[in-house]
Amino acid sequence: MRYTVLIFIMMFVIVSEFFAKPRVIVLGFDGADPQLIEKWIEHLPNIQKLQQQGTLTSLTTTNPSHSPVAWATFATGNNPGKHRIFGFLKRSIGEYKPQYAVAKAEDTLFLTLWQKIMLGAVLVVVVYIILFIFLRRKKWGKLISLVIATSLGLLCFYISGYLIPQKIPRAVPLKQGTSFWTRTGENNIKTDVIMAPIAFPAEKVACGHLLCGFGVPDALGTNGTWVVYSSESRKVHSTETGGWYRPLVWKNNVYNGVLNGPKNLLAHEEYRELRKKEQDLRAKKNKDINLLSQVRNRISQVRQKLHLKLPMKARKISNNEVEIVIQNNKQVVKKGQWSEWFFLRFDMTLAISLHGAIRIYVSSLEEEVNLYVTPIQFSPRNLPPNVKLSHPRSFASEVEKRVGMYPTLGWASATNALKDEAISERAFQQDLQNILHSREKIFQHTLKQKQDLLVAVFYFTDRASHMYWRFIDEKHPLHEPNLEHKLLDVYKEMDRIIGIAHNKLNKNDILLVVSDHGFKSFRWQVNVNTWLQKNGYLFLKDDKERSNMQVRDLFERSRLLQDIDWKRTTAYAIGLGKIFINLQNREPQGVVNQDDYYKLREEIGRKLKSFTFRGEKVVNEVFMQEKVFIGPYSHEAADIVIGFADGYRVSWQTSLGGVPNTIVEPNKSKWSGDHCSVDPRLVPGVFMCNHKVSRQNIHLQDLAPTILGIFSVKGQSMDGKKFQILNEK
Ligand SMILES: [Zn+2]
Repeated sequence: MRYTVLIFIMMFVIVSEFFAKPRVIVLGFDGADPQLIEKWIEHLPNIQKLQQQGTLTSLTTTNPSHSPVAWATFATGNNPGKHRIFGFLKRSIGEYKPQYAVAKAEDTLFLTLWQKIMLGAVLVVVVYIILFIFLRRKKWGKLISLVIATSLGLLCFYISGYLIPQKIPRAVPLKQGTSFWTRTGENNIKTDVIMAPIAFPAEKVACGHLLCGFGVPDALGTNGTWVVYSSESRKVHSTETGGWYRPLVWKNNVYNGVLNGPKNLLAHEEYRELRKKEQDLRAKKNKDINLLSQVRNRISQVRQKLHLKLPMKARKISNNEVEIVIQNNKQVVKKGQWSEWFFLRFDMTLAISLHGAIRIYVSSLEEEVNLYVTPIQFSPRNLPPNVKLSHPRSFASEVEKRVGMYPTLGWASATNALKDEAISERAFQQDLQNILHSREKIFQHTLKQKQDLLVAVFYFTDRASHMYWRFIDEKHPLHEPNLEHKLLDVYKEMDRIIGIAHNKLNKNDILLVVSDHGFKSFRWQVNVNTWLQKNGYLFLKDDKERSNMQVRDLFERSRLLQDIDWKRTTAYAIGLGKIFINLQNREPQGVVNQDDYYKLREEIGRKLKSFTFRGEKVVNEVFMQEKVFIGPYSHEAADIVIGFADGYRVSWQTSLGGVPNTIVEPNKSKWSGDHCSVDPRLVPGVFMCNHKVSRQNIHLQDLAPTILGIFSVKGQSMDGKKFQILNEK
């Protein structure tokens, strides 16, 4: 009898396993490099297991090999000519100005006139009913109730203009096409996507959840504005990559700083109106000088209020501890440590507040007090109505309730701050660990749910590789020996996470591990605009070099536009490895006609490929627009995409519109590894699976059709070609 039951149970297990739908887990690790995995495979037991039982191979990445481009291809199965993401920045058509490539901000009406009238009307009715109940027996009761209620309704309608902004900015995604997770969701396949790349504002997953990752801005609407508050800073100034130094002022026995928060939309509305008024007044023949100076005074007053601000106080307890107070938050933080999260509330009006969260690192406390403040991130528990961080909307806060506060900023790591020497190696490393642990908690929590498809993307592998490559490359100008383990440790963390997922799977379940690209050393930076200038394609309005440019020069001050002599310039560079031809009828001051366009590109391409430095080839390959981008948006891409040789990358100054004197400079920054603007064939990603697959030659764009194929989801065609996951191991 006992044996019969046992056999029955075993048969049940075998049969149910045979008929069960496989669960699919897709893990993404940004920038995980196949060569490093091969080199360190002995230290990566879980990856080694996948290699022995299933598949470990390199994965062809997109051109260009930038993360936004690559992840958009991963999600949609299409080339950039179809999904429209060509890099971090794109050039605005008809302008010489770049804009963010992932999403754009559009002003939308917050409360329409009709909504305001309705609000007023509802108030009138409610107040009237309440008053009527109390005054109905009094003489003139009805009339008094009506008069009071109507007056309040009108007052509400009138003051709403001062309490509520007319328009609020809303992020509009630029990515085109449908992500595979949206399509599985539509087909009733339970799908959860966490830290989803290039999916902000949150894409819809009908049957499941999506939490945005890479591509989410900070509460200021930027890619990450960090600030160092310093007792040594006398004035406010910014850094190359867009960080800020702000003063800490000693007053009343504490250090005082001012946190610059999100935009004050009401002040922006007034500011825009005043600027228009000023322009109109200036254009008049008989100028009213008094009125003009009144308007200008008001402009300078309103300019101070364009951002919502909060005071921050720091009281030194000892040379080792400081008490930091922001609103009701009070924390004692040790030197060389990160604080817990500070939750902030910025009041725009009595009716509207914006919320955010920061962490603070105490860099120094002795003679100089230095506090590093992370970008102000959206707080999942208090999201503004115009920010869609997850689908459904409540998912972001539900996750926070389960696992605690987590970083919401897409590029959360302090890579730029370390590059600009604003924080120490130790602060960077601790931050990397904190972010990883927060996101791992989200992963562990989601892994427990019974979904059919789980997609989880981690970014720490990329952020660490950018900053730690100097430890593994002896030829790097900032190489430090005996520190290779720092990057190896990061790869071990990746291996550990792969192990966690692998252990949760049954025999027929499928684990896919993907990286969007690999890495190469960034030893030399190439000033592409300087190369164009020295080869007679780009002319400045004077002979002075343009160096020390900052992110502000690119966006706020438009230096590139102002400094180049467009009447003589035939080609210019913007972004990472992108050259544009100053084409007639396309560029505002185009000089190259259509007949010369192809000839000019060929000539620039030929010269770039023969360009050598210290006997080395600098450019591996140049790619012409129509050869790499196929689809309705191809014309928005660069005319020439540069693929640098191993060791070279476009300079920071070129990407910011700078034109320094020398063409090639050593890279003396800790940002020492890269993949952007490197020939994509040199930086493939990696692909792993717990099963063997039908072919080895796999492209990133093949993943979406393959995953849809596993679930038998049919639909629109993609550039990617499906491959088979084989059952025998
Ligand atoms: Zn990267």
